[in-house]
Order: sequence, then structure tokens, then C-alpha cells
Amino acid sequence: MQHVPFADLAAQTAEVRDLVDKAWREMLDDSSFVRGPQVTSFEEEWARYCGVGHAIGVANGTDALQLVLRALGVGPGDEVVVPANTFVATAEAVVLVGAVPVFADVDPRTLLVTPEAFEAVATPRTRVLMAVHLFGQPADMDALVAAAERRGVLVVEDAAQAHGGRWRGRPVGSLGVAACFSFYPGKNLGAFGDGGAVVTDDDVLAARVASLRDHGRIDGSHYDHGAIGTNSRLDSLQAAVLSAKLRRLDEWTQARRAVAARYAEAFAGTPVRWVGNRPEAEHVHHLAVVRVPGRDAVRARLARAGIGTGVHYPTPCHLVSAYADYHRGPLPEVEAAAEEILSLPMFPHMTAEQVDRVCDEVLAAAGEEVLSDVG
Ligand SMILES: *Cc1c(COP(=O)(O)O)cnc(C)c1O
Repeated sequence: MQHVPFADLAAQTAEVRDLVDKAWREMLDDSSFVRGPQVTSFEEEWARYCGVGHAIGVANGTDALQLVLRALGVGPGDEVVVPANTFVATAEAVVLVGAVPVFADVDPRTLLVTPEAFEAVATPRTRVLMAVHLFGQPADMDALVAAAERRGVLVVEDAAQAHGGRWRGRPVGSLGVAACFSFYPGKNLGAFGDGGAVVTDDDVLAARVASLRDHGRIDGSHYDHGAIGTNSRLDSLQAAVLSAKLRRLDEWTQARRAVAARYAEAFAGTPVRWVGNRPEAEHVHHLAVVRVPGRDAVRARLARAGIGTGVHYPTPCHLVSAYADYHRGPLPEVEAAAEEILSLPMFPHMTAEQVDRVCDEVLAAAGEEVLSDVG
């Protein structure tokens, strides 16, 4: 029986190994470990890729979120609306700047935050809406930005799972006041360690983030601090890895799309429901998520069959114990989804045989579950 892992980075690493070896030797020769030319090059490439004027490399995606909020002046007394189905870091960043995360419900088909769900929880204290492009699906930014603007609220994209996605043809990263990326190794564009970036078209915001990530330094000076910042720089090595992988990103995204298409086709008309199919969105399939009744039993059967799976996320943020202070009432769609969501193996180098094997096992496991439910 062939094991199918949930994700597999080895083939991606192999494709960039030579370029990274060369970049590393150059860094060893000139000791440019921090603030090397590799960082500026990657920042320029990433800004261009996202269709914006500025990209600022930072230490990780959580810092990207935090630094944007700080640069926007969000802090104590302010509220930030966060979809309840996201990785906890989206909410964590809000708390870390001293503001209050207010959790919103999601659309049951896409599990993304909707304008209605935003309206339901927005208050006069709301300053920012975090639009999370969850699983790689670009959110409906036209509708979200319109709803937010009516209340004078800014929209920040949490694009940590959506490198290269597009909404109505426009790149993720260019759709809000700023966007935050993570380059954690398992993301669609992943470093050999932690990394992140803020992208924006706003010159003032970009300059603030660039200063804050580097101890609040004022342009070019070493000991002139215009703000109390932090140390959140992207390493030269990580920047070199990201530049090497960026050359492959579109090809890898196409490969993810081929896997997703095969899944969607296999599950059509079955009890296994594919999450996320808005025609305006060019999905980059960071994760392949389905909703299936009896999820835990299905997952256990798949594990016995050697198929790796995940759940993103098992507990909606408003029910995570550390966030109990921010629980303002039930969010029915996200709570119902948490019982049914299952993330299937998804990585660019997955073979057609591997995908077919997962489809067969998922359909068999879901079928048994439906039968045992009836019986
Ligand atoms: C990964 C992720 C983050 C955090 O990024 P790190 O680089 O791990 O700090 C934030 N939001 C979402 C939606 C993520 O998936």
C-alpha cells in the first residue's frame, strides 16, 4: 500500500538546490547575512509579482500583520474584525498591538468572511477588517472593501495562504490598503525557515513598516530612531531561497490546480463537498478542503489507509481557550463547518496516481460513514 503524505517539500527543495547553493556561497564570501543585496532583489521581485509599489521583507507572517496594524496606528481602544476560521496568528497580531479582535462568521461554501458577517459585528470602534484569503481562495474584495468603506474601515489582506491568487484578474496583495504574506516553509512560496512580507502601494505606509521592522530607524541612519520599532528583518538567505522559488511559483500553482480539478471532479455529486469555487477567484489551492459528514471517522479510516490529512482549523478562533475574553456569542456557520472540514493531500509534485488513490479512499470512507449513519 502506497502512503500519500499530506504535503511533501522535498521535490520543491530539489528544484532550487543549485541556485540556493550558489547564493549561499556568495553570502559566505561577503558575510552579507542580514540586509544583503538578496533582500532588496527579492523585495523588488515580490512587489512586481503582486502588482504594487512596495514589498518589505519581515521575519514572519505574524510580524507582517502586526507591523501593518502598528503602521496604520491601530492600538488600544480599536477593534479589528477577523474571520473566525483562520490560523490563530491573524487574531494574535491584533492582540499583540493592543487592539481587540472581533470574530466574524463565514460563508458555508467558501468558509471566507462575507460583507454581511462583517456588518453583523462591526461597531464604531472598528478600524480594520482582515480579509483572509483562506486555503488559497481570494476573498470577494470588491464586496468587502465596499462594505468596509461605508463605515470608514480599512481592509488588510491576510494573504499568507494565497501567493499568486487573483480576484477578478487583480493580484492578491494589491486589493486592500496592504497585504501580509508568510513564507513559512509549507506555504505556497516557502523559505528554508521563517519569513514574511508586507506589500502595499502606499508610500507612507511602506516607509513606516520598513522603519518599524528595523528598530524604527530613519532612512539609512544607524542610530537615529524615529519610532520605537522592533527587529523583524528577512534574512539574506531566506530572500535568496524565495527568489529562486519565485521562478517556479506559477508552474507549481498550475500543478496544484490540476490536483484540485481532479479532486473536484471526483467528488461532484457525492456526499464529499468541495470547498470554494467562486468563478471570479483564481484559487491557488494552498489546501484542498472538503466538507464530509462523520469527518473524524473518515479521517481515521484514511489514516489507516496511509493517507495524510489535516483539519484547518479544528477550533474556530472564538472558541480557542486563549481567546475566551473575545468570545461575543455563537457563530453558527463556522461552528458547523469545524465538525465537517477535512484537508486532503495537496502539493505541486503530487502524482495523478496519488490523487486517484486519495479520491478512491475518501469516497470509500465517506460511503461507509453514510451507511453507518443510516444503519
Ligand atoms: C501562516 C499564517 C499566518 C502566520 O504566518 P507565520 O509566518 O507562521 O507567522 C497568518 N495567517 C494565516 C492565514 C496563515 O496561514
